Amino acid sequence: MIKNNLLTLSEILPVAQSRGFAVGSFSPRSTVMIQPVLHAAHNKRSPVIVQISQKELLKFQVTPQSFIAAFLAELEKISTEIPCVLHLDHTKDLAIIEAAIEAGFTSVMIDASEMNLEENIRISQKVVEYAHQFGVSVEAELGRIGATNLVETDSDEELFTRPDEALRFVKETNVDALAVSVGTAHGVYTVRQPKIDLPRLEAIRSMISIPLVLHGGSGVPAAMLHTAIELNAGGVSKINIATDLELAALEALQRQESILDAQWKTLPSEDLRKAQAAVEAVTEDKIVHFVLSENRAADYHDLLNRRKGI
Ligand SMILES: [Zn+2]
Repeated sequence: MIKNNLLTLSEILPVAQSRGFAVGSFSPRSTVMIQPVLHAAHNKRSPVIVQISQKELLKFQVTPQSFIAAFLAELEKISTEIPCVLHLDHTKDLAIIEAAIEAGFTSVMIDASEMNLEENIRISQKVVEYAHQFGVSVEAELGRIGATNLVETDSDEELFTRPDEALRFVKETNVDALAVSVGTAHGVYTVRQPKIDLPRLEAIRSMISIPLVLHGGSGVPAAMLHTAIELNAGGVSKINIATDLELAALEALQRQESILDAQWKTLPSEDLRKAQAAVEAVTEDKIVHFVLSENRAADYHDLLNRRKGI
């Protein structure tokens, strides 16, 4: 069941990169939250990436198969023609990458960023070779993107992506998109303030031309993101947003503890709808005010027509 508007990162991101906007990569963290993410993108006529990571699959007890089934069912239901990507976020385990590709994900991320450069290149290369056989795009990570509750402000400089290494990494791995570490972090910014090292981002951009990815988008001030998106030679064109969606869902129910995929399905439908409405609202807000992709579905008109053979 191949959808014409289900794209890869190498199709969706270059358009954004050349036209000064980014595409939000949203983590619903539950199959029931795919619906509000797609609704938000549909309502705002925006391209969208829906993603789930290896850790999220385990933590929320979702399988690649159940995730894609829910995703395709929703696409069918709203019969939307917005450009979208189904992406496997941070994954270290090759078996999960293979399972996701087999299930029909159009994009995967290999995260070997905790390895040394040689090993990161070797592992990422292997995933690219495998995924490209199936027409699936690959994102990799260079440098290390920290977590807000673990990384000390004065030590995170060491984790930042080095422009010279980025050049070598991209040449040798042939990845389709690169997650860079330029100051943002995963999670909620309580310990330190988010900042984006723009000179570093510009230096990386001057070395490589593939789309750049910014992780840890939750909580970063919009103006800072816009500068990073709108760099002259093409700024970041994929921005990952995970934490803010789950926070919105939990807040709507006045809960603090994460909710497993199966638990969501046992909630009273009124509660579920309330949480979904909150996720839809926060996703719309990110599309309009953060990633600047409102009404940008139209930018993919020619690309989608070419795929249809029109
Ligand atoms: Zn990430």
